Amino acid sequence: MDSMRENNFDLSPELLDEIQANIEEIIKGFPISECNKIDVIKKINFMYSHTKYMSVTDPLTGLYNRRHFENTIEREFLRAQRYKSDLSIALFDIDFFKKINDTYGHLCGDYILKELAYLTLENFRKTDMVFRYGGEEFVIILTETPMEKALIPLERLRKTIEDYPFFYDENNIKITISIGVESFNEKTLTLENILNNADKALYIAKNEGRNHIVTSSSI
Ligand code: GH3
Ligand code: MG
Ligand code: MG
Repeated sequence: MDSMRENNFDLSPELLDEIQANIEEIIKGFPISECNKIDVIKKINFMYSHTKYMSVTDPLTGLYNRRHFENTIEREFLRAQRYKSDLSIALFDIDFFKKINDTYGHLCGDYILKELAYLTLENFRKTDMVFRYGGEEFVIILTETPMEKALIPLERLRKTIEDYPFFYDENNIKITISIGVESFNEKTLTLENILNNADKALYIAKNEGRNHIVTSSSI
């Protein structure tokens, strides 16, 4: 049993994709009547895509989750390195979010997170990816985008959030976010450097009074 579990665990996503793509061939070996086969295949395909969706998604906001971020950023970093292409990463965090929860309740906090996720997605290109990194922290991967171009949608997002009339339980609520950005360049030799630099920039944005963007050039 334990060895079976271990084998299951070792199945790579690529191998699972291959099994799923060949599901018609595979179920030929099972005693299922011809007329039930289509139903079985449909069910397996549905379960497979649903499980795959759940494994990359944050249930509250519907954004990609942190696990998916870890996989994606590694791939995008290698791609940027190999093809010397542009890549920017922005970390952002809601300012004084604890106070929102304390003042209006946890459900209001959840409403803000969901609304903010929607506003963020609306602000970026389809090729950019938005992830919920932690509680009230988010990360955006902007592919093929140098720092100066990344700053345009990021500043637009900061302003959108600042101006947005969040409304919950008869309360008008104002929210701001702080953002740290780093881009792939000749000095950011490792993925850890990029992430650490974005994190340090975010930390500076918080210390400098919040509700603004700090780039890695300030660290
Ligand atoms: P700062 O401006 O320094 O970021 O202050 P902050 O209050 O946002 O930061 P702090 O780390 O002190 O608090 C983060 C808060 O985020 C505390 C926690 O209750 C809240 N939070 C994290 N995840 C969730 C969630 O899923 N739902 C809700 N409602 N709140 C959450
Ligand atoms: Mg915060
Ligand atoms: Mg935080």
